[in-house]
Amino acid sequence: MKAIIVGGGVGGLTTALALHRAGIDVELFESVAEPRPLGVGINLLPHCLRVLDTLGALAPLIPLAVQPQRQSLFNRFGQKVWEEPRGLAAGYKFPQLSIHRGLLQMSLLETARAQLGEARIHLGHHLAGFRQDGNGVVAEFVDRHSGKSLCELRADVLIAADGIHSVVRRHFYPEEGPPVWNGALIWRGTTRNAPILDGATQIMVGGVQTFIAYPIVAADGSIITNWAARRFVDRSKGFAREDWNRKARPEAVLPHYATWSLDWIDIPDIIARAEQIFEYPMVDRDPLPRWSFGAVTLLGDAAHPMVPLGSNGASQAILDTQTLVSALREEPNVAAALTRYESERRPATAAIVANNRSGGPEVVVRIAEDRAPHGFDDIEQVIPRSELEQISARYKQVAGFDLAAVNRAP
Ligand SMILES: Cc1cc2nc3c(=O)[nH]c(=O)nc-3n(C[C@H](O)[C@H](O)[C@H](O)COP(=O)(O)OP(=O)(O)OC[C@H]3O[C@@H](n4cnc5c(N)ncnc54)[C@H](O)[C@@H]3O)c2cc1C
Repeated sequence: MKAIIVGGGVGGLTTALALHRAGIDVELFESVAEPRPLGVGINLLPHCLRVLDTLGALAPLIPLAVQPQRQSLFNRFGQKVWEEPRGLAAGYKFPQLSIHRGLLQMSLLETARAQLGEARIHLGHHLAGFRQDGNGVVAEFVDRHSGKSLCELRADVLIAADGIHSVVRRHFYPEEGPPVWNGALIWRGTTRNAPILDGATQIMVGGVQTFIAYPIVAADGSIITNWAARRFVDRSKGFAREDWNRKARPEAVLPHYATWSLDWIDIPDIIARAEQIFEYPMVDRDPLPRWSFGAVTLLGDAAHPMVPLGSNGASQAILDTQTLVSALREEPNVAAALTRYESERRPATAAIVANNRSGGPEVVVRIAEDRAPHGFDDIEQVIPRSELEQISARYKQVAGFDLAAVNRAP
């Protein structure tokens, strides 16, 4: 079997590794000619690290990442609403990694080059179009800057891991239009800062307007604070096409957080001293009725972009890979494999998209602030522990990282 992967992000690179390991002849095509370590922090959860481990891609990531031990959620006044252990500290067989997205992508690219060989990874190749016949699919790649045609390739299956602006998705859903915006802006930044709390905690302050921070490893190996400030704005102004690398200045963020200095974290100071800030509208897309058409299917953000709550975007792309590759290996033909892949992953990821739209697991802070807008003396009187545990457990089940299930998996 011959497979084409379009897109060299987390989803595409992991799929390339998994297909190659399964003995499938695979070539990957990435639009960007010289990938650079772009983006800021991202989290990988234990369920997807189990998959990366089987592909020999986990060990190189360990020195590039911080392993958070817990997640703590606070109301706007810095009062703790919920805290839970994460990764190894929670009893998972695999850690959680907080990692610079760019370092993650560059590491996966190196692992893919080492395992597949340089000749199977084609950088600077942008998918311009494809056509299908009874014998598979033919894809055409161009230089995205000049438009010059570079090559055509035939394969039995084409896996589109080309992100939230997927050209393949647009081919099948030409009327879909831009991503769906929920009216919030997120400013993501990094700041050289003293450790927050014990230096191994992901924190979130606030329920509607929020500030999230956790440590990551910078490109020079030092530990820096990665943060994300979310604020709902006037929707009628619309938004520019989301761009992970649109820069913002601290002055754009600071006025909204001027009074957010707490006794254990000085949020205005972290924002003011940021080394870099990117602005991003909080977007996703409606779940699709179908991902696979003939020999072509969607994977990762091309299939199910979700708003960034619950630390799940990249993890879900990696989980897609595992299901897809098992199906291609075990089913008698491509059509049967894509049907199986889609029947497992489409409902699973649609449920996460929906859960994230209603606030993800972090919704507990919003509930606490609704019930006790001026703060509380005892969280138990505001939200009983059993309710908090239920919301957390429910999200883990929906997103597939329930402790018992992850540790039981082969
Ligand atoms: C630059 C960048 C920064 C990000 N930063 C964050 C972050 O800070 N936090 C976070 O939670 N998530 C971030 N994300 C999203 C996160 O990485 C994804 O949700 C997740 O990893 C899913 O990965 P994916 O491989 O499906 O898609 P993506 O990571 O978006 O990868 C898609 C890839 O396909 C390539 N591509 C697109 N069109 C074509 C084409 N026609 N032909 C060939 N190749 C094509 C793109 O260049 C890209 O490399 C970022 C994504 C990007 C692209």
